[in-house]
Amino acid sequence: MAKQYDVAVIGAGAAGMMCAAIAAQRGKRVVLLDHATRLAEKIRISGGGRCNFTNIGAGPANFLSQNPNFCRSALSRYTPQDFLGLVKKYRIAYHEKHKGQLFCDDSSEQIIQMLRAECAAGEVSWRMPCKIGSIEKSETGFHITAEGGDIACDSVVIATGGLSIPKIGATDLGYRIAKQFDLQIVEPRPGLVPLTFDGPSWEAFAPLAGIALEVEVSTGGGKGKNKTQRGHFREDLLFTHRGLSGPAILQISSYWEPGTPIVLDLLPEMDVAEELISSKTTVKKQLGNVLSQWLPARLADGLLVANGFAPDMRLADMADAKLRKLGDAINRWAIVPTGSEGYKKAEVTLGGVDTRELSQQTMMANKVPGLYFIGETVDVTGWLGGYNFQWAWASGYAAGTSV
Ligand SMILES: Cc1cc2nc3c(=O)[nH]c(=O)nc-3n(C[C@H](O)[C@H](O)[C@H](O)COP(=O)(O)OP(=O)(O)OC[C@H]3O[C@@H](n4cnc5c(N)ncnc54)[C@H](O)[C@@H]3O)c2cc1C
Repeated sequence: MAKQYDVAVIGAGAAGMMCAAIAAQRGKRVVLLDHATRLAEKIRISGGGRCNFTNIGAGPANFLSQNPNFCRSALSRYTPQDFLGLVKKYRIAYHEKHKGQLFCDDSSEQIIQMLRAECAAGEVSWRMPCKIGSIEKSETGFHITAEGGDIACDSVVIATGGLSIPKIGATDLGYRIAKQFDLQIVEPRPGLVPLTFDGPSWEAFAPLAGIALEVEVSTGGGKGKNKTQRGHFREDLLFTHRGLSGPAILQISSYWEPGTPIVLDLLPEMDVAEELISSKTTVKKQLGNVLSQWLPARLADGLLVANGFAPDMRLADMADAKLRKLGDAINRWAIVPTGSEGYKKAEVTLGGVDTRELSQQTMMANKVPGLYFIGETVDVTGWLGGYNFQWAWASGYAAGTSV
């Protein structure tokens, strides 16, 4: 005999716990299933262990999707202030770090315990760790085969997240269930991920690992796309042994298309060519010394070598045309990444269940009444900075109030 519930939520991560708590507190009999042995590992490791749980400025413009308007409804009905209200209710101390990003003062474990308490307040039943077998439509709803016995329920909410960090339990179950019910998928790919470079053009930069500086970055590809569609960020860049990382690169990686360049402005406050040309007659220094007034010295030398300049050339001896070329290499450095560090290092998965298949009010599949998809499984991906959790809370709330 299958055990009867109103709602089964598959995946006890950020979105799944929020959805289960909301539905259960409305009086629904809810069971929450997850195959992991440790609860909500992604929340635990998030924000360097302090969980950047929301961004006070979160709005539709901070998300990527084939349908950028899809997230609008859910985000407006469960806002960063709503989640903050919950955080305050549980007396979790927090602080704003940078650009509206809110972090726990102490530990992300507090967010996990808060969500767990919210589930307990609604008497959510747990099955964890629990292997999921199959999910089939039945005459009255759905039939789930799972470790611990079969489940019969009116609604199923899929909250199994994306593919990033497979070693802590990410799987493609959400996409497989979507395909099983004939729903379209936007091809998943890693997002918020370091970019890698190899080949001779990168040789001069390989020894620069550890150098960090604030830059502006955008994607160079995508003719006809406006600034928003190309992505444009001012954040820190970090040179690594295999390529580039840091917030600037993680942000732009979500917009980057393989085979196209990213464009970096290493000195966004300065028109480098103009500055060099105008100081030619007064500054007697070598080029390397001039640039290292503004850039880390190792980076200045690396850039000069990569662009065919000797660092000991005297600025006064340089033709204006050459200085313009050098200025371009610093203010508009276009480089084509070889690839990315992949799901092993990606913070999120772009793509997922096509939003055209879902109701933007409820997150229910239009052609499968009672089947819902929430969180990262859906083709809605936030920027770095607390946006992805805000989507998890908001989409979880939308489904939780509808099931
Ligand atoms: C290192 C790192 C740091 C991050 N930091 C931040 C941050 O500070 N701020 C921010 O906003 N976002 C951050 N993110 C992104 C954020 O963690 C995710 O976007 C968010 O957790 C997605 O929520 P979700 O509920 O959709 O999926 P998840 O939280 O990933 O939950 C999915 C759940 O489904 C379960 N599951 C998966 N497959 C199966 C299966 N086959 N059977 C049963 N259960 C299954 C998993 O065990 C998991 O518990 C970070 C991500 C990473 C990897």
